[in-house]
Amino acid sequence: MDFLACLFRFPKDDPAQATRARHSLMSLVSSLTIIVFTLYCSYAGLFRLGLRELAWFILLAILVHAVFFAMICSGRNLRLADPSLTLPQMYVSILWMMFILYFIDHVRGAMLVLFMIIFVFGIFRLGLKQFIGVAIFALAAYAIVIALLIYFHPDSINPRIEMLQWVLLAMVLPWFAVIGAYISNIRHTLRQKNKDLEKALAKIEQLVSHDELTGTYSRRSFLDALRRELARAERENRPFCLALFDLDHFKSINDRYGHLAGDDVLRSFADCVQQEVRQVDYFARYGGEEFALLLADTEINAATDILERIRARVESQPFPHVEWNVTSSIGAAQYQPGETLNQLIGRADQALYAAKSEGRNRVKQAAGSIRQ
Ligand code: GH3
Ligand code: MG
Ligand code: MG
Repeated sequence: MDFLACLFRFPKDDPAQATRARHSLMSLVSSLTIIVFTLYCSYAGLFRLGLRELAWFILLAILVHAVFFAMICSGRNLRLADPSLTLPQMYVSILWMMFILYFIDHVRGAMLVLFMIIFVFGIFRLGLKQFIGVAIFALAAYAIVIALLIYFHPDSINPRIEMLQWVLLAMVLPWFAVIGAYISNIRHTLRQKNKDLEKALAKIEQLVSHDELTGTYSRRSFLDALRRELARAERENRPFCLALFDLDHFKSINDRYGHLAGDDVLRSFADCVQQEVRQVDYFARYGGEEFALLLADTEINAATDILERIRARVESQPFPHVEWNVTSSIGAAQYQPGETLNQLIGRADQALYAAKSEGRNRVKQAAGSIRQ
């Protein structure tokens, strides 16, 4: 039972699969409409099969639909070139139509309208070639049905009228295929445009949330993260620290080696820090040669240890172009319950200023941070 339930679960988490499952159910409903009509014909004596024999074929038709539906719901269709299963579903429906056309009497012409329902499903997916292929298949199958009827049941068929109907269908179906493929094409272009738009949106989001030069988070997304962390700290009474970094004498690197070399140093600095910070920390370019780090769930002493490790690594690491040791000054502040974002940033900034004035290349804790 569990297996069956899993097989027929509507794929809610995958919109494309859900659409396919919905189409497959719609095709089942179309078949049910035809089935009801056939049952009525059989009841009215216009069908050469009794209700009991007909019931077996109806069961078979429903079973085939169930197989398609189960394939989609279980994800087995994803292994196929066309996961929508449009073509197989259309071919099966045409065969089902042929069965009805063969056994039905008098109202065969009216049944031809049903071809349109089958072809409408192609609009979801098919290209012109596939559409024409299905049209040829339908016309050939119908021709075979006519031939079989002339041979086995000549009394139930008027060949002249039947030929006329076939010619009419031969005129309508290819035209329908052309229009259907045209609509399908428009849908495809639209889907493509939507994909391009999604990509552009992702690119814009990336540009807004990241710094182009260093690949770290941008100041804007850092401030957002800081606001979120502050709210969380207040709600859950958790500690966190903010650290501000400033490269020492960076102007002399630019002056001596040029702006592009300065850019390379900024990139290397960002890479170096990122290798030291933890997954939960949030590192961003705050502006110019200043960077910021949010240390989640961390008290000031633990933060200072991490920052000291970063400072030492920066100092000891060779940087591109630069012949001397590049160093950084760091100011750190632990969030104090009740203080505003600006107050926290202000305290970290003051600590950075103190690190600079005390000789650079050092980590300073902000006044007001809880010391132990
Ligand atoms: P201090 O030790 O006091 O921080 O001295 P400093 O030279 O690092 O500080 P200052 O504020 O005087 O100079 C910062 C320099 O950073 C000035 C600016 O041209 C440079 N800068 C800012 N943004 C960029 C950038 O994106 N690329 C490059 N190459 N340089 C930048
Ligand atoms: Mg600066
Ligand atoms: Mg500087």
